Amino acid sequence: MPELPEVETTRRGVEPHLTGATITDVVVREGRLRWPVPPALAATLSGLPVLAVRRRAKYLLLEFASGTLLVHLGMSGSLRLVAADTPPQKHDHIDLILDGRTALRYRDPRRFGAMLWHIGPVEFHPLLAALGPEPLGDAFDADTLYRASRGRTTSIKQLLMDNHVVVGVGNIYANESLFQAGIRPGRAARRLTHADCERLAAAIKSILARAIEAGGSTLRDFVGASGKPGYFQQTYAVYGRAEEPCHTCGSLIRQIRQGQRSSYYCPHCQPW
Ligand SMILES: [Zn+2]
Repeated sequence: MPELPEVETTRRGVEPHLTGATITDVVVREGRLRWPVPPALAATLSGLPVLAVRRRAKYLLLEFASGTLLVHLGMSGSLRLVAADTPPQKHDHIDLILDGRTALRYRDPRRFGAMLWHIGPVEFHPLLAALGPEPLGDAFDADTLYRASRGRTTSIKQLLMDNHVVVGVGNIYANESLFQAGIRPGRAARRLTHADCERLAAAIKSILARAIEAGGSTLRDFVGASGKPGYFQQTYAVYGRAEEPCHTCGSLIRQIRQGQRSSYYCPHCQPW
């Protein structure tokens, strides 16, 4: 599943090709995504230049003078830039044609993604209005995390994955950040000290920033018909490493279930 670093890498990969380009057509081959693609999208967008490509949480926001196109990659979505006459492959559901020459091509085998049109300030869109702060922004820090965790009996890992507290910390990065901060995923959120929150907020920021940096080497993969864009291999300290030795201390990484998700931790490096 594309997590925040992949979405930000996608934004950086496509943004230079989109900003300033004019949409000349929209081709919808399959509009049944998580929500139906607006049937009038071609009429809405044709003739409009893309003013900017921003990101909020895991939504890409293509800004036009008259509104914003929200794009979500869902479980399996990807974007790439191809010559407009490149034959579509299976699961290539939508093309935004740029200046009559290039297609921003949306592929999504599982169709859990979304492409939605919004008029007016996009921060008030129902999907965005209740979202918490961006993890890499100044609005998220140790104080935010400390306040959000007071009185919460839920585990710290589940709190981190709550979009009202902070956006874009999915299962992988929650596990990795808790390892770096030396905190067990199952610990009750309200038990965290302010010092814990300082280490954890710093770990979240550095791990996400490092992942985005790793994605930088794939930016050219967004152009052209071959390859798979935006998903880069990373090495993890604990995620997916059950029963393997910790790189720091050699203890075997443990796996537990929390909610519907797997959590991984080192019993020595994350004593509690
Ligand atoms: Zn360890």
